Amino acid sequence: MTSTLEVRHLQVEFPLERGIARAVNDVSFTLHPGERLGLVGESGSGKTTTILAMLRLLAKPGRIAGGEVLLDGEDLVAATDETMRRARFSRISLVPQGAMNSLNPVLRIGVQFHDLLKAHGAWKSRGEARAHVARLLEAVELEPGVADLFPHQLSGGMKQRVCIAMAIALKPSVIVADEPTSALDVVVQKQVLRTLVRVQKELSASVILVGHDMALMSQFAHTIGVMYAGRLVEYGPVRQVFGNPRHPYTKMLIASLPSFSHRGRFLGIPGVAPSLLDPPPGCPFHVRCPSAIAGCSRDYPGEWLGEDGHRVSCHLVTEVRDVHPA
Ligand code: SF4
Repeated sequence: MTSTLEVRHLQVEFPLERGIARAVNDVSFTLHPGERLGLVGESGSGKTTTILAMLRLLAKPGRIAGGEVLLDGEDLVAATDETMRRARFSRISLVPQGAMNSLNPVLRIGVQFHDLLKAHGAWKSRGEARAHVARLLEAVELEPGVADLFPHQLSGGMKQRVCIAMAIALKPSVIVADEPTSALDVVVQKQVLRTLVRVQKELSASVILVGHDMALMSQFAHTIGVMYAGRLVEYGPVRQVFGNPRHPYTKMLIASLPSFSHRGRFLGIPGVAPSLLDPPPGCPFHVRCPSAIAGCSRDYPGEWLGEDGHRVSCHLVTEVRDVHPA
């Protein structure tokens, strides 16, 4: 089944001794059936927290402080724990960051699949489960014999493929992948992403891919969301965001990609991301932004809405048609 996922004004906060850290601040987007969305930004920008909140997998003391996550109109934020448990894997599934840590090191791969099928009422018989697991492994280009191995007997790329196979075991309509290739070398990264795209197409599922590799994202995604300090600062079709980036942060992220035109020089983004406990007033990027103007340190910009759903929050991008709450 194909599904539409709508994230509306999502807010996530972490109450800490020194105050409240707002890790996700008023994030909204819609994921259409079959769409591939890339969420990019520096570490701590709120990408992973956004997807963990969508799946209701936030580590304590993190909590959803507002907003909705609508999967085919049903709000996952308001769903019971049991509804959510059943929804994971069967309607929305996660390919976690670091396959090393997400697989149980003392159980054979096949047993881990069988446990998953049993937990979701999809177990019929041992023989049928073995055949199902063999098909899943084949779908991610692994031999059926991998089911008899322990995680330590697999390479990083094989473990990541096992995680993708687990994520599609119950044919979810939304797959969320949290930096699934970050620990892999470049060649294996591409192979794993190709596998993810292929299984996504076979299932007609949509995908959210979290990462910070803009080059990889440009090849993978239909839509790009750029996050900074818990905000979605630019969002739109990949050709718009890469072809005509409007937010200074997006421009700098793209300029920092290696290219033949500035061979030998790396263009970084000066400064560090702000503390989410005590972010600067106004636009949180103003302390690092080479284009900042007077109002930037005072007011958070409204949101500019361009063609094809292109959205940007920056005072320099005018014709604002919507205004975010402060
Ligand atoms: Fe830079 Fe101001 Fe735009 Fe923020 S609002 S990105 S500080 S120009």
